[in-house]
Amino acid sequence: MTAAAPPAWNLFKQIFADHWDGFKRAHPRYDRRYYDGLVEKMLGCGNPDQMGYIDYRCLHCGEGTHRVAMSCKSSLCLRCAKVYVDTWVSQVSRMLHEGVIYRHIVLTMPALLRTTFYHNAKVLLSTFMRCGVTCLDAVFTRVSGRALQGGYIVVIQTHGRNGQYNPHLHIIATSGGWDRQAQQWVHLDYVPYPLLRKQWQWHLLTMLRQTVKTQEIKRLVDTCYTRYREGFVTNVQKGDVPAHYQSLATYLAKYVVSPPISLRRIDRYDGHHVTYHYRSHKSERVEHETVAVYTFIGRMIQHVFPKGFQRIRYYGVQATKTFATIKHLIQEALAKVRGIVQGAIKIIAPLTYRQRYQQSTGRDPLRCPHCRREMGVWRIWHPRYGVIHDEPEAIRRGKYASQAPRAAPTGGAGRTLWPAAGGIPLSLPGLR
Ligand SMILES: [Zn+2]
Ligand SMILES: [Zn+2]
Repeated sequence: MTAAAPPAWNLFKQIFADHWDGFKRAHPRYDRRYYDGLVEKMLGCGNPDQMGYIDYRCLHCGEGTHRVAMSCKSSLCLRCAKVYVDTWVSQVSRMLHEGVIYRHIVLTMPALLRTTFYHNAKVLLSTFMRCGVTCLDAVFTRVSGRALQGGYIVVIQTHGRNGQYNPHLHIIATSGGWDRQAQQWVHLDYVPYPLLRKQWQWHLLTMLRQTVKTQEIKRLVDTCYTRYREGFVTNVQKGDVPAHYQSLATYLAKYVVSPPISLRRIDRYDGHHVTYHYRSHKSERVEHETVAVYTFIGRMIQHVFPKGFQRIRYYGVQATKTFATIKHLIQEALAKVRGIVQGAIKIIAPLTYRQRYQQSTGRDPLRCPHCRREMGVWRIWHPRYGVIHDEPEAIRRGKYASQAPRAAPTGGAGRTLWPAAGGIPLSLPGLR
């Protein structure tokens, strides 16, 4: 569930409400139930009658109430994006290990390949991710002269700063690899840039040629070799990331799982055009862009991944069950080269609805405004399952009958009908 929505949320919804049907006619590729479903869910997000809700009520004085609409969690929904990022950060930080040095590596592709990639996204997305891993293993192996397998957390991102299609990989890689034969961890102090660039070019182009067997791709591959003699753009974050996993994951989240165009960047919509701003890498300035409404919808929807697609994947030693055993060998090896590597893992639990609400409004939504005590769950309603929980009904059936003396059901003056318990131990699977 999400806290109060910013005003741009209404603009965003309006854009889709006005133009989704027209957009689909212009771009039949998106005329699918799957995309309709995402749009529909997004349009209903935050609307309790469509999405379902939880009603809270003060069980002490009976006065305070609070209704929380359930969120849609559609990948298109900018209102749910923040929750998505929080969950992601928590998930990634849980996969990072103390005493292991990680590096953040970005692998990109030149602009002339992007259109072809887009048209073949279905077959290319997964292979692309795997390709980045093969490339890094090859680089590690080349540098050390031994067959190494690194550990990788790979996240695929398809948009650049202004929401245009620009597929690239963010990889959190170990600073070396596992030599299976010697049963040893080999630490590499740095990754040589020129080698990485060339290796990435070779791995990516080879993969493209083998996966998309058209004349067009053959031509593009040849052009890429002649035009980019130094290889493709790759980035290695300067320095290692040994200690602050929390900040690493948070920092990554900004680049990696943020939506193509976030709500706070949408400035205006006049029915035909949308204006938004973004910070440009090139000019280092905030740029404003006004695009036709179909272009805007296209920029949002082209980044939606196929149903069930996993955007974060774990490869190499990072993915194996044996990592726990290898881990202490990694830590030992690193301690030898570096002295003790400091690092405290902090697992970041995703914020609850209550915490997020409190963060954005400064008010605890579940504290009764009348008696200041904590409210309890009163009723839960889901559009498909109907009433899941009904506290008044439970009370009527005598849920609290065995507790301290209470008023008679007739409820004389000055008596209370509300149960005296301070909170209701109710587990709500899937609800936060
Ligand atoms: Zn939503
Ligand atoms: Zn109260």
